[in-house]
Amino acid sequence: MARTAIPGRLTKRAGWWVARLVDRREETATACTLVLEVPDWPGHLPGQHVDLRLTAEDGYQAARSYSVSAPADGERIEVTVQRVPDGEVSPYLNEGLSVGDQIEVKGPLGGYFVWRMTDAAPVLLVGGGSGIAPLMAMIRARRAAGSRVPFRLIYSVRTERDIYFADELRRRARDDQGLDVAYVYTREVPEISPAQAHRIAVADLNTHGWPPQLEPTNFVCGPTGFVEAVSDILVALGHEPRRVKTERFGPTGG
Ligand SMILES: Cc1cc2nc3c(=O)[nH]c(=O)nc-3n(C[C@H](O)[C@H](O)[C@H](O)COP(=O)(O)OP(=O)(O)OC[C@H]3O[C@@H](n4cnc5c(N)ncnc54)[C@H](O)[C@@H]3O)c2cc1C
Repeated sequence: MARTAIPGRLTKRAGWWVARLVDRREETATACTLVLEVPDWPGHLPGQHVDLRLTAEDGYQAARSYSVSAPADGERIEVTVQRVPDGEVSPYLNEGLSVGDQIEVKGPLGGYFVWRMTDAAPVLLVGGGSGIAPLMAMIRARRAAGSRVPFRLIYSVRTERDIYFADELRRRARDDQGLDVAYVYTREVPEISPAQAHRIAVADLNTHGWPPQLEPTNFVCGPTGFVEAVSDILVALGHEPRRVKTERFGPTGG
């Protein structure tokens, strides 16, 4: 979408909140975090998502889903968007939307792929690419709440350059005994890594996940094929299917 405009008054219309972009951060060469201010935002849980809607000057609209990547902070919400080549919406969100611009937001949405602080079970987070977004919201929410629930993250990326939130993850893993972070590289491994480039496999989940006997909650998020492969392995390893929660970042346009 080349240009967008939000016609009408700056109030909530039929479930859509009018938000304003107040900040943006580049995460990698192909992804950025958008910080939106949404007046009267009711708050959200880590793992939930929102729909973002763009309206062109001729009235054409396009909406896509994006997970919130940070816990609720008053009227501010954050989403982290991977630029999909030839995509309709994600390139515009990465390059076309400027601080001060308006965009419509619906949400918070989803109540299944959610980590609740009252759940004392250990947590395994498995993210592929931009699938880290809702998992990061969980990691940040756990810390903000002072929770002692042990978290493990396995993050699959093509190369080291594709890691979102790299510095923050390094710092959090260093300072927090209750958070372990492991990476799987699918295309190019860092020089110091002893492993070869590979897709996430049984050995990764065995080494860096939790044994099923501990009854962890497993959250798996990323592209559809990644999510299916990982959840199949977790179930084959003995995890109860209801303890393997999945979120697929497939196409949502129409
Ligand atoms: C619940 C949910 C939460 C999501 N959260 C996030 C998030 O936090 N961050 C994020 O970056 N994306 C997220 N997505 C994906 C997002 O909704 C869009 O699908 C994505 O941004 C592509 O939109 P687009 O308009 O640029 O591409 P489109 O114009 O819709 O598609 C262009 C081409 O890219 C393909 N394609 C579409 N989506 C993807 C994709 N995700 N990966 C690879 N190829 C794709 C299409 O099949 C098509 O060939 C989420 C999806 C869902 C369902």
